[in-house]
Amino acid sequence: MQFPANPARSFRDPGSGLDGRARNALRDGVSTSAGTASSGSSKPVLLVVDDEAEALRKIEHELHERYGGDYRIVGEGSAKASLSKLRELEEAGEVVALVLADQWMPGMSGTDFLTRVREVYPTAKRALLVEWGDRSAPKPILQAMALGRIDYYVNKPWGSVDERFHRVISEFLYDWAKDHLPKFEAIRVVGERWSPRSHELRDLLGRNGVLHTFHSADSREGRELLAQVGYDSARLPMVVLFDGQVLEDPSNTDIADACGSNPSMEDLSYDLLIIGAGPAGLAAAVYGASEGLDTMVVEGEAVGGQAGTSSLIRNYLGFPQGISGAELSEQAAEQAWLFGATFAYMIHATELRRAGEKLVVSLTCGNEVTARAVIVATGASYRRLDIPSLEALRGAGVFYGAAVTEAQAMKEQDVYVVGAGNSAGQAAIRLSKYASRVTLLVRDGSLASNMSDYLIQQIEATENIEVRLNTRVVDGGGEGRLERLVLEDSLSGTTETVPAAGLFVLIGAQPHMGWLPEEIERDKKGFVFTGRDLPSYGRARRSWHLGRLPLPMETSIPGVLAIGDVRHGSVKRVASAVGEGSIAIQMVHEYLSSAPREHSGMSASDSEAIPARTRQAAF
Ligand SMILES: Cc1cc2nc3c(=O)[nH]c(=O)nc-3n(C[C@H](O)[C@H](O)[C@H](O)COP(=O)(O)OP(=O)(O)OC[C@H]3O[C@@H](n4cnc5c(N)ncnc54)[C@H](O)[C@@H]3O)c2cc1C
Repeated sequence: MQFPANPARSFRDPGSGLDGRARNALRDGVSTSAGTASSGSSKPVLLVVDDEAEALRKIEHELHERYGGDYRIVGEGSAKASLSKLRELEEAGEVVALVLADQWMPGMSGTDFLTRVREVYPTAKRALLVEWGDRSAPKPILQAMALGRIDYYVNKPWGSVDERFHRVISEFLYDWAKDHLPKFEAIRVVGERWSPRSHELRDLLGRNGVLHTFHSADSREGRELLAQVGYDSARLPMVVLFDGQVLEDPSNTDIADACGSNPSMEDLSYDLLIIGAGPAGLAAAVYGASEGLDTMVVEGEAVGGQAGTSSLIRNYLGFPQGISGAELSEQAAEQAWLFGATFAYMIHATELRRAGEKLVVSLTCGNEVTARAVIVATGASYRRLDIPSLEALRGAGVFYGAAVTEAQAMKEQDVYVVGAGNSAGQAAIRLSKYASRVTLLVRDGSLASNMSDYLIQQIEATENIEVRLNTRVVDGGGEGRLERLVLEDSLSGTTETVPAAGLFVLIGAQPHMGWLPEEIERDKKGFVFTGRDLPSYGRARRSWHLGRLPLPMETSIPGVLAIGDVRHGSVKRVASAVGEGSIAIQMVHEYLSSAPREHSGMSASDSEAIPARTRQAAF
């Protein structure tokens, strides 16, 4: 097997995790896989339903003029006729990409109709058609989106060539096509379908935006590919790159290197090193690189962090339709890269220490990076329920975190909150304002050990909140959205199936900070203290040798900042992580302007000596 040399830095493209050659090949349409929409030669269908004949004619015309070459436009005058049409299309093996429906139709509302579309075509995009100026629209739209009944809405075209209308339609088709049309195969993986490593590879490639296909080793395609490259199934998983390189059971870093995504690992010296490419790290990279700092970002898994796993972020400024976390992160990574930031993917930081004026970070690939300042943006992860049937409904009734934006959409619904901490209590109270019934599921026999008393009292006084102690969620499901949960009474072992429209899981976040040195002060849960939150703020101590107070977001090691979810006291949101990432750069400038004076007299050989020889702070 031959591992390639890393390509020139300018080939890297963090937006897709691919290098420039892969991107060019993609543009040229080289080596495409068979997509899932290739049923026969018929074009995917765009179905539009409106009971007003003139409006229907106008929309059909608009769609036909713009998309008629690649899609078949089908118009219907009622929800009932459309449902029959969809069944007919399904029987004929046709593919439906998008369904548009007027909200106010006799017999069945657009929302109810679009909910039923999911039974026949679960992956078709579904949007409500709304008249310009229909002020009654926002409420049902918000609720239907949160419950996974529609994807979004679009205003009916006001005239010919309505580009606003087409922008929304194009976005739907772009989203749909990503999963359904034939695509360039940058990477083909052959592995055992149910092996954890195969799953991990698929997950990592998907989250990094790498176009790939997976073939089970016992499938015809898998066997053919193994035979083609002369491998046997004893050395799986096997990875074949678009340029013919074959990697046998590669590490994540091997794959990133072979894709040309990672920089040459020689002479790694930067002004600013950012660990973690979630929203916080990406924002710091955009602002750091755009403000002239030679910036490197090291990401252990996939760009986007937790946000990258969110199918739809609905509360990020400027995206009323919501934006997929992966899309937002890819755009941000591309932006940072264009400003000159260097990215290293699928490489973890394992150690941090000071060497004189510089900070040194060791990486899992065996190299070290030196930097004048380091930003720790390693985030946290919410503990998962690890119930596959519920994981499949994430965003369609199942939410991790308080999901404050979803509360209004839970109006008159039965919802469940899992957790016993303050965050779970607060979520239950907020939800009780909208939902008809909120049930708080608590694994233990009491709320008192984890929840503040004032919250417990408030919960007890709220009529529509029920607390079920000693209860766990063990299963659940629904057609395209959450409809039921299976609960287990842990004392009796009995189970019960209950109807549920929402499940909010708040079972604690764990910060990623195990790799940081002990000198970095943290709270009991491991979140990193910064600035004024430092218990030692303003007090003399061994690890702080400067004659100034720590800057906001600066940790107990000078020049090392912590931002986003890993930081003690942070607001666990995409927007706040992005905000901290941008503000932190101001602190980095401040630190760098004073660092040479502060560290004068220290040399690279001082790295081991810091705790012993540090001067005490003068405050
Ligand atoms: C399923 C889900 C849905 C969410 N939905 C919303 C929403 O709709 N709206 C909202 O505002 N918020 C939402 N959140 C919360 C939001 O995603 C987080 O608050 C935000 O991502 C935090 O950003 P961050 O950059 O601080 O950390 P993270 O997003 O956690 O990113 C940290 C990154 O650091 C990397 N890393 C960790 N350790 C190392 C290491 N040693 N070396 C190298 N890299 C490392 C990780 O791989 C990760 O990519 C959601 C969270 C989840 C889990």
